[in-house]
Amino acid sequence: MLIVQKYGGTSVANIERIKAVAERVSKTVKEGHKVVVVVSAMAGETDKLIELSHQVCPDPPLRELDLLLSSGERVTAALTAMALNALGHKAVAFTGRQMGIITDAVHTKARIERIEAKRAIKALEEGYIVVVAGFQGITAEEDVTTLGRGGSDLTAVAIAAALNADLCEIYTDVDGVFTADPNIVSNARKLDKISYEEMLELASLGAKVLQTRSVEFAMKYNVPVVVRSSFNWNPGTLVTKEDKDMEKVVVSGIAHDKNQAKITILKVPDRPGIAAKLFKAIADANIVVDMIVQNISSDGKATDISFTVPKTDAKKAMEITKKVSEELGAEGVLLNEEIAKVSIVGVGMRTHSGVAAQMFEALAKHGINIMAISTSEIKISCLIDAKYTELAVRVLHEAFNLGS
Ligand code: ADP
Ligand code: ASP
Ligand code: MG
Repeated sequence: MLIVQKYGGTSVANIERIKAVAERVSKTVKEGHKVVVVVSAMAGETDKLIELSHQVCPDPPLRELDLLLSSGERVTAALTAMALNALGHKAVAFTGRQMGIITDAVHTKARIERIEAKRAIKALEEGYIVVVAGFQGITAEEDVTTLGRGGSDLTAVAIAAALNADLCEIYTDVDGVFTADPNIVSNARKLDKISYEEMLELASLGAKVLQTRSVEFAMKYNVPVVVRSSFNWNPGTLVTKEDKDMEKVVVSGIAHDKNQAKITILKVPDRPGIAAKLFKAIADANIVVDMIVQNISSDGKATDISFTVPKTDAKKAMEITKKVSEELGAEGVLLNEEIAKVSIVGVGMRTHSGVAAQMFEALAKHGINIMAISTSEIKISCLIDAKYTELAVRVLHEAFNLGS
């Protein structure tokens, strides 16, 4: 088999861990498999690099920021290849560029356009273990890009798709995908398998165990993904196509996201084209808007519009919104960063009614106010005060009987 194994930050956090990863890869190779290893930077390293950049410049140019950030993964890739050499294996380390990962030019959140894997294919044929620095690529103009936080997951899945690998294993610090973040809910249950769709919702709603785009990619190219721990030999969670068993469960998991900010534009004139103008300006800045709430005005004149954006984009989104707000003659713009989104996810919701009511009741019983709601076929999200996040997750986990 050809297996892609991705090791996250905690799995390569220090030299001891890198040696342990090399042992695990070695074992897989000795079982007769070809292996591509994708590594993250050492835990905390990317945050440290971002911090360094802010020490020299309050608003660093994104092209240079990407060059800086890509270095964390290069360190671990080189060290991992060396550790494999020390174990007697032929191993070669590649940067994103050497791996042929071509992206668009949207720095710090670039999209992979294609992978020119010729060199890696040749190395694999020659019996090398290929070690790839995750999280990075290169534009057509040969500028280094990064793929968004958690982007090494995407590197792994995209390489698995490009090389038509039999399996993509994501090694992390928990045993798999759980019914809620196991670091918040002590009796969260590990799922044996989960559908791509549910995983995609959980990831995009804040369960950082897999990066959202990596799940999108896996679903699109049908890559079988297994999430498991690099600290033990437990079997992990298979992310795969939906099957009949999965539909029986109404709610599969709870996700939470504290990385959103809410912007409210006050008393905007109520006429056609307003929302289009505002959200076009925000989209043009490559900012993804999540929840949007707009009331119909009671007097037919003015109404408030609230929406959420990633916290990292809040400053930029505020600038744009203020500008548009002035052009539209709105009353003002407010920013609230103390919010969180809690969500329930499950393919079984398609065929069950009353799930939303059950969710709202559970939150109400604990005095948690809901600021906004959004739903899709397989998820319901509520925006709440950030200080109730952990409580809300536990309460919902309990209400839907997800514990072990
Ligand atoms: P890595 O560095 O290996 O990429 P991450 O920190 O990105 O690891 O992702 C693993 C973390 O995801 C876990 O430590 C856990 O706290 C968090 N997490 C959030 N939701 C879930 C969930 N539903 N199942 C498992 N882990 C989750
Ligand atoms: N090192 C990057 C991050 O911290 C990418 C990754 O770990 O997947 O976001
Ligand atoms: Mg991660």
